[in-house]
Amino acid sequence: MNDLIEIKNLSTYFSSSAGDIKAVNDVSFRIRKGETVCIVGESGCGKSITALSIMGLVEGPNGRVVDGQINFDGKDLLNISKEQLRQVRGNDIAMIFQEPMSSLNPVITIGKQIMEPLMIHQKMNKKQALARAIELIEIVGIPRAEQIANSYPHELSGGMLQRIMIAIAISCNPKLLIADEPTTALDVTIQAQVLETLRNIKETSNMSIMLITHDLGVVAEMADYVIVMYSGKIVEEGEVEEIFERPKHPYTKGLLKSKPIIGQRQEMLYSIPGQVPNPLELVESCYFHDRCGQCMSICETHQPKLKEMENGHKIACWLYEEEGQHV
Ligand code: SF4
Ligand code: MG
Repeated sequence: MNDLIEIKNLSTYFSSSAGDIKAVNDVSFRIRKGETVCIVGESGCGKSITALSIMGLVEGPNGRVVDGQINFDGKDLLNISKEQLRQVRGNDIAMIFQEPMSSLNPVITIGKQIMEPLMIHQKMNKKQALARAIELIEIVGIPRAEQIANSYPHELSGGMLQRIMIAIAISCNPKLLIADEPTTALDVTIQAQVLETLRNIKETSNMSIMLITHDLGVVAEMADYVIVMYSGKIVEEGEVEEIFERPKHPYTKGLLKSKPIIGQRQEMLYSIPGQVPNPLELVESCYFHDRCGQCMSICETHQPKLKEMENGHKIACWLYEEEGQHV
C-alpha cells in the first residue's frame, strides 16, 4: 500500500500564562491508501489536536504548530496557502466530530446541508446535488432517503445525525476521512450502526480513515493499524493484531486491561491508577513513570525514544532498550 499522508515530527503547542503546553510533541506516523489507522489514548493525550493540526484547524490565538511536516499528495499542508488548504479540506480530507448536532444547522433541511458542499466543491447544479444527496443518505444506511432529505436535524435521532455527518463528509469522495470520537456521544446499539456505516465505506471505497477513540472495542472492530498516544507523544504503534496480542508498553497493557469483556460481568472497570502528568510540568523522563508499575531509575530522568522491533511494532519504553532500533 502506498502512503497517503505522512506526518513528520509534528509539534503543536498552546501558550498559557504559565508557559507552553506541548499538546502534540514530535509525533510522526503515516497512513496508507485504504488503511484505517486508530489513534487511541485517554482524553487530553493529544489525539484531537493531532487531527486538528492536519486539518489546519488548531484554534485560537494561543495554539500553533511549531514544527513538522504534513505531506499529503505531494504537498506539505503546513506550507501551502490558506486557499489551497481550504481546497484540500473541501475535497481531499474531511472530518467528523463527536457531536453531530453542533455541526448541523438547525433551520436548514438535511438534504440542503448535504447538497451545499456538492454544489460548492463539485460544481453540481441543484438537481444533480439533490440526487446525489439522496444517494448518500442511502449509502449511510438510512431508509426513506427522500423523506429524510426534507427533514430538519431535530427530527432525527443522534445516530442518524451522525450518519448524516458521515454522508456530508464523504460527499466529495475525500481520500482521507478523519473521525474524532464519532460514536462517543451515542448509546451502544446506535454506536454499532455508525461503526457499521464506517466499515461499509471502508470496504466499498479506497478511502483511508483516521479514527480517534479512547474505546478499544472500536479499535478492535475498525483498525488496521493502531497508534497509542500518551501526553502528546506516541508510546506504541503497530498492526492491530500485534498491539492486541502482543502489547508491550505498560500503558498499552493498562489500557487493554481496562477494556470491558463481552459477556462477563464486572463490578468495576479496571482503570490505570494515577493521572496524566500536568502538561506544564513535563520534565525529561518517561511521561508515564508516575503510573508505571515497572518504573526504573532511568525512567525518571531520561525520555525513551520510539524504537522499531519485530513486525514493524514500535515502542518507546526503557524496558525494551536492548531490543530494536531507533526510528
Ligand atoms: Fe514504565 Fe519506564 Fe517503560 Fe516508562 S520507560 S513505561 S516508566 S518501564
Ligand atoms: Mg478529543
